[in-house]
Parts: sequence; C-alpha cells; structure tokens
Amino acid sequence: MLCLPSRAQAGSEPGTGRTSAMTFFGAVIFFVFGLVVGSFLNVCIWRLPRGESVVFPPSHCPACGRRLAWRDMVPVLSYIFLQGRCRYCGSRISHRYPLVEALTGAAFLFLFYLYGTSSRLVAALVLTCVLEVAAFVDLEHMRIPNGLLLTGAVAGLLVNLLPGSLGWREMALGAVAGAGPLLAVVLASRGGMGGGDVKLAAVAGLYLGWRLALTGLFLGVVAGGVMAVVMLALRRVGRRDPIPFGPFLAVGFWVAMVWGKELLACYLRLTAGR
Ligand SMILES: [Zn+2]
Repeated sequence: MLCLPSRAQAGSEPGTGRTSAMTFFGAVIFFVFGLVVGSFLNVCIWRLPRGESVVFPPSHCPACGRRLAWRDMVPVLSYIFLQGRCRYCGSRISHRYPLVEALTGAAFLFLFYLYGTSSRLVAALVLTCVLEVAAFVDLEHMRIPNGLLLTGAVAGLLVNLLPGSLGWREMALGAVAGAGPLLAVVLASRGGMGGGDVKLAAVAGLYLGWRLALTGLFLGVVAGGVMAVVMLALRRVGRRDPIPFGPFLAVGFWVAMVWGKELLACYLRLTAGR
C-alpha cells in the first residue's frame, strides 16, 4: 500500500541524452558530497556531546592523539584500506565512521533524486544531518546536545528564507505540533522522557510543518514502542533501563519528510472508505 513519492522534475525532461548525463553527473556529485558531509557529521557525533569544538583542533585519533592525514580520512575507503584500525597506533576505529559516511552519501543521493535542485532539497539535506547526528549521539550518550538543536533551529529559520519554503506560520505550527504532545508526556511523567527529545521534535517540526510533524511523531512513537516491547521480550533490557528515544524520533521524522504526504493520503483513503 506504500506509494513511492513521485520523482521531482530535476529541471529537465528525462530521455534526452544531455539532460540524463547531467542528472547522472549531479547524482555522482551529491553522493560524494554526502560522503564528505558524513565524515564531518562523525566529527560532530564525537565532539558535540564532549563539549569540544567541531572545527579545532584538526582531526586526530582519539586513542593516540596523532593528527590524521588526508589519506586517513577518505570516507569509507580509508576504513576499508586500514582494515578498521588506526594507521599509527593500531587501535580499533568504530564501525560508526563508515556507517555514518555511507548513510549520508546514500541519503544525499536519494534526496537529490527525489527533489532535484530545489529549496526543498536544501531543507531535506539539512534536516537529514540534524536528525542523523541527534540519533547517533542519543544512542551513545542518552542525550541530545543543545548546541546541535540550536544550530538545527537556526538553520531551519535560514532555510525558510529560500523561495518556495513553508512560511513562518506553518513552521511555528510544526514546532508546536511536534513538541506539544511530547512536552505533555514529560510533564505528566515527570521526567520519563528527555527534554532533548521534545526539543528535537520542535526543530523537526520547523522543517516539516504541522501535518508531517505529527506524522513523524506518530511513526517515531510506534517504532520506539515496538522496539521497547521486543527488547523487553528478548530480555535485552530490563523494565527500568532507559531506552534512547531520539533514534526512533529521528527515523520517524525522516520517513515523514520523504513519504509523509503519501502515508497521510493512504491513511485518509483507508478511513474514508470505511
Ligand atoms: Zn591512533
């Protein structure tokens, strides 16, 4: 029943040799761009929760402190070439590095395919980065850094200056729709859920508008709930163990960004046909 979103007109009709060559060229560029951005997101994922600057000092091995050369930092390929170990001290490099790089490359390629070169693409790329960093930091540290959320919010406001964006009213409603229900849960449960989750939902709402914010929130809550039940059943976690909710929220909002309109249309058709 899931309907794939229709591909955006990337400024050209398919079929003519020159334009498809340009689209292919654009796809390669966006994939490589995504890999490089993924490499930077890895720096953010490591440094932001530790309160370090994401710019200085230059990249170094967290184990031996040696400054990395460019050949140690080629996305995905360096990890494969070095067989997952630091060139200088031999300590293990986390799987997260190639994973985040490959994920970001794939996401950028996919979003370029969907939206072409448009302001929607810019918003989608920025939100993807914010959600990805939030998910991986929360997974490891059980919190989402305020610096990331603030940067995401400011970037959302800037993206909204581009032509064809959501509009201020829709953005404000999106933030309220995303964060409101979670805030109610936090207040009712007195700390059963982190404040970072609430803020992340508000930031995602700025990019998505109220309909997609609610759709993403719903998807995240369902995914998190199902995973919690499965982990409890498999005894991977105990009843009192905290489970990070940020990764589920991030996936929910990302899916809502890409397929939310189609999911809503399917849902409305189903309920109308009853
Ligand atoms: Zn090292």
